[in-house]
Amino acid sequence: MVDNTNGQTPVDHNSLRLSKPKSTAAGIPAVVSSGLHSMKKMGPIKTIKTLKMVNQKAGFDCPGCAWPDPEHRSAFEFCENGAKAVADEAMRANVDRSFFAKYSVEELSKKSDYWLNSQGRIAEPMYLKKGETNYQPISWSDAFSLMSSKLNSLDSPNRAVFYTSGRTSNEAAFLYQAFVRMFGTNNLPDCSNMCHESSGKALIPTIGIGKGTVTLEDFNHADTILVIGQNPGTNHPRMLTALRDAKLNGSTIIHINPLPETGLVRFKHPQDYIKLNFKSTRLADIHVPIRIGGDAALFQAINNIIINKKKLNQHFIDENTSGFSEYVKSLESIEWQRTCRDTGLDRELIEKIADICANSKSIISCWAMGLTQHKNGVAVIQEVVNLHLLGGHIGRTGAGLCPVRGHSNVQGNRTVGIWEAPSDSFTEKMELGLKHTMPRKHGLDVVNAIRAMENNQVDFLFCLGGNFISATPDTIRTSNAVSNLSMSVHVSTKLNRSHLVQSSEMIILPCLGRTEIDVQASGPQFVTVENSMGIVHTSQGQLSPASNKLKSESWIVAELAANTMPDLPIDFRKLVQNYDDIRALIADCVSGFENYNQKVRQDNGFYLPNPPRDDCKFETHNQLANFSINSLPNVDIEDNQFVMMTIRSHDQYNTTIYGLDDRYRGIKGNRRVVLMNPDDMLELKLKTRDVVDITSHHNDSAIESKHWIVIPYKIPKRNVAAYFPEANELVPLDSTADISNTPTSKWIICTISGQNSTSEEE
Ligand code: SF4
Repeated sequence: MVDNTNGQTPVDHNSLRLSKPKSTAAGIPAVVSSGLHSMKKMGPIKTIKTLKMVNQKAGFDCPGCAWPDPEHRSAFEFCENGAKAVADEAMRANVDRSFFAKYSVEELSKKSDYWLNSQGRIAEPMYLKKGETNYQPISWSDAFSLMSSKLNSLDSPNRAVFYTSGRTSNEAAFLYQAFVRMFGTNNLPDCSNMCHESSGKALIPTIGIGKGTVTLEDFNHADTILVIGQNPGTNHPRMLTALRDAKLNGSTIIHINPLPETGLVRFKHPQDYIKLNFKSTRLADIHVPIRIGGDAALFQAINNIIINKKKLNQHFIDENTSGFSEYVKSLESIEWQRTCRDTGLDRELIEKIADICANSKSIISCWAMGLTQHKNGVAVIQEVVNLHLLGGHIGRTGAGLCPVRGHSNVQGNRTVGIWEAPSDSFTEKMELGLKHTMPRKHGLDVVNAIRAMENNQVDFLFCLGGNFISATPDTIRTSNAVSNLSMSVHVSTKLNRSHLVQSSEMIILPCLGRTEIDVQASGPQFVTVENSMGIVHTSQGQLSPASNKLKSESWIVAELAANTMPDLPIDFRKLVQNYDDIRALIADCVSGFENYNQKVRQDNGFYLPNPPRDDCKFETHNQLANFSINSLPNVDIEDNQFVMMTIRSHDQYNTTIYGLDDRYRGIKGNRRVVLMNPDDMLELKLKTRDVVDITSHHNDSAIESKHWIVIPYKIPKRNVAAYFPEANELVPLDSTADISNTPTSKWIICTISGQNSTSEEE
């Protein structure tokens, strides 16, 4: 039986192949997988030529995650998923006018995300007018006059929204925010709103900066590393090398995650074979199979034990922090019964972890979406900060906080101004540098932008990269909101679902990829990006563009600005003739970028200032690191309910589906699966491969999603997991984190009804 569920992966039982999860990450299978993906998409010659340049000093930055490059690069300085990301971008430009003539939008919308992505690069600008069935080619100049006349016809600049995906370079992102603010709005939502916004909102009031405070070198000096709500084996694979090295230096690694992810079990660095070293390395000493949502209770319990054991860095607390005694008092009400219920863990295990932390000289805590995409995302991250303040594990070698960014330049985008809620000091410096007034009223983040579209308060959406429809929550509701728009524009490299959800007029602008040569009037240009460790470095495209009709992101933004506001004090067209001029302007407008062009040409680029890391200084309201007091969230659910979290497979990068093989978890051939605890399946009288419907619940609203295949998996009871973007349709738009407004993609209350199970109804 095959049934397409609004273009998502077909529910074809026979396509699903299940096997035991892998116990070792990377190794030869990663080399084979990288090779197969690359050969299929680039062919042998281009594969060798291209992969040799990834993450090399004179090469281009991997368009995958934001894990930093080591000072001394190896000849093959990329991971399996980095190779897939590069191969995916380096495909031929087959998606041209003949492709769009062959396939109507209606037909394309029935294709899976995997199929859409595998069609190749978009070759030329395309235009779709309401009522028409197929995209038509359009010239760049006609596209810009359509967009600029639409923008200039708006009743208010705030009826336009300018979205950014984290792949955009610093240069393009800076020009973009400059134009948008000069246009008169702060409507600059970005993918950060859906991922590490909770990290920024937690860290700024507590340590004075919304970024991590460690370097790659620190991993070699940490005696305890906590990996919390993160799956580096798939989402930041080169981090496994840092963990292996830390392990070999005697570090203890604790993996806190509902799922026993292969990446933290054992790791085999493929290049070790060259040294005839065939042994793999065990990484996590302890896997903590915590219940979804139990992290705050866990860290409050750990911190309470450390306080009661008086295992404190009192000097650090006295000299550098505020709020310690109030925090100690707030933990007095902790009860073990609640702690064990909320975490799903035994007291003994929690005490063991607390002991390890209490006796650690230096702790690094790494986290990702498993902490940020919760209603209490900000609060739980602040509990992790509290742990670090108790032991003074910040601002010294081997110790610190490490939110690991999943998008290659998402941190850089925010640093140069992609933010709907900039601080006044940031805006004032920008006004001085750009000699133009800037709006003060904060703009719309992603969730609020969708609400505004839904209420017809927005007419124009411009997406600089990304896949807005698939990356955002509540897919059906978001699609309906987007269809209210009079124009939506997508700057893209590959075909995706956002191109198929119609607003009155739609324009696709194909841009150069990170791997491709970007020639402007002054010659070939390099761009710059910022990784998770706050290092800004160069990336220079090396491949011939997939089509001669592609333009760089910076050029596209400059043309949009010049067409829409030809009389601006800044000559955008002149700036993109030589990106050094953009960087010189950034140096005038953004703190930390002084002498940008000189510093970024240094080997390995340069570190942006980071007071907690650099000088153990905290630029908070009181110039101290602040303990935070947060009440525990209610993680209780009804007897017939489950908590779902969305996850990535090993064969995808964000919403880009490279393949259907989640190799590490042993799930192949189909993505419309829900991972469930075998005991829960028994209780619901469900068997492996049974098909169920899932309904998510939030306040009084419910969203039903049909045809999910149940598979048994090692996950805590009453917790389930499913892949995004497919499961994003179940994430209620109104279910967001406090303070950060990040969608709670890791906390979705749902009920599950079997199509042939006899459970619930009875
Ligand atoms: S770890 Fe991240 S940045 Fe590095 S090669 Fe892999 S995907 Fe790319």
